[in-house]
Amino acid sequence: MSHLNDPRTTVSFYTLGCRLNQSESAVIRNTFEAQGYRVVDFLQPADISIINTCTVTEHGDADTRHLINKVTRINPNVRIALVGCQAQIQKEKLSELPNVTWIVGNARKMEMVFIINDHPENETKVQVITPAIPRDHFTIPITGFDREHTRGNLKIQDGCDFFCSFCEIPYARGRARSREFEDILMEARALAAAGHKELVLTGINIGTYQHEGKKLLQVIEALESIPELERIRISSIEPTTIPEEIFQRMGHDSKLCRYLHIPIQSGHDKILEQMRRKYTVGEFSQFIDRVYQNVRGICLGTDVIVGFPGETEHHFEQTYTLLRDLPFAYFHVFSYSQRHVAQSRKLTNPVDRAVIQKRSRILRDLSVRKRQVFLKNLIGSAQNVLFEQKKDGFWNGLTDNYARVKVKTEHDLQNQMRLMRMQGLDGPMLVGEMIS
Ligand code: SF4
Repeated sequence: MSHLNDPRTTVSFYTLGCRLNQSESAVIRNTFEAQGYRVVDFLQPADISIINTCTVTEHGDADTRHLINKVTRINPNVRIALVGCQAQIQKEKLSELPNVTWIVGNARKMEMVFIINDHPENETKVQVITPAIPRDHFTIPITGFDREHTRGNLKIQDGCDFFCSFCEIPYARGRARSREFEDILMEARALAAAGHKELVLTGINIGTYQHEGKKLLQVIEALESIPELERIRISSIEPTTIPEEIFQRMGHDSKLCRYLHIPIQSGHDKILEQMRRKYTVGEFSQFIDRVYQNVRGICLGTDVIVGFPGETEHHFEQTYTLLRDLPFAYFHVFSYSQRHVAQSRKLTNPVDRAVIQKRSRILRDLSVRKRQVFLKNLIGSAQNVLFEQKKDGFWNGLTDNYARVKVKTEHDLQNQMRLMRMQGLDGPMLVGEMIS
């Protein structure tokens, strides 16, 4: 193997978990390229493999082990860096895994290239770097150009102060903090100039953004003035943090996509209280109705947790009915799993595993049916589609209201925005015809 800081050294990346992790991995990867490392695909032999980990569900933990098995089969001498959320919380457990050389938490993971550059060649002990995460505003000095995705991620915030009882994000990513306003604009301009027509605002609790008097709304207003940028999309956002002006803007001559993903987590007040969520079912429903009435054609999505301790059949039925009746186009269903440091691990009335699986299935089926209804309602309408990839002879892309559309054409539509007429439905995708 080449020396760690030798330009011939190869490095591969894998990102688990959320969009925020993806956007951070893009930046980390660029820092390695800037230092002369050669980046290879994850399943190619590499001197170093960096896994940006996730700990939101138990799958995140299992996925890390699975990935380590895969890379060590390809290259038994690979040095592995585990960075991010799981590294922050479970350093002891992770340091026992084969080939792990570095465990670097969220506070320092963006400096990974320098940590590796400075690593003594003959060091055999696992290097563990997981200091507490500072609460200060932050900047990101390198742009996260992402050649693999048409839509660019723009990180504006990190961490969370809400401490929902099932969640260990505040422990893994620290308390809420915001990226400096001008720093966001600088990266946004660079990403737009590099060709990204759509940027997705990412963070952990982006509705709590604040820097020197600027809030999320001011970030959106400033981004709208970047001429090359055609769309701005808000990723997941907490229900109690969305200012009315945001959805007043959507669909009214704004670049803001008609899309909101707002986690509900449960449809019963008692469970919401146990989860330490900040709203009641009534407040949430009223809010969703108001958004739906104000933004014509909006796509509303949500997250729901099934099998939270103490969830009875009655609680579950209430959740089902609520999700059926609210105008959601889809939902992500998470089976509850006890996390290592989250407060809900102390609750004593677990739901049976088989019951959780059954309830999850029921909600996933409902979500599929609701998505079909949402898509069918778009048939006949004209929508702008940003095309992303060609698959099985069809180009496909997204409308601003998050419908995937495909079209058969000989033209190269990569990163092209086209006005399309929605003609029909093929599984989870609309089939379109080009208008212009
Ligand atoms: S709002 Fe709740 S669920 Fe979301 S990151 Fe914060 S603590 Fe976790």
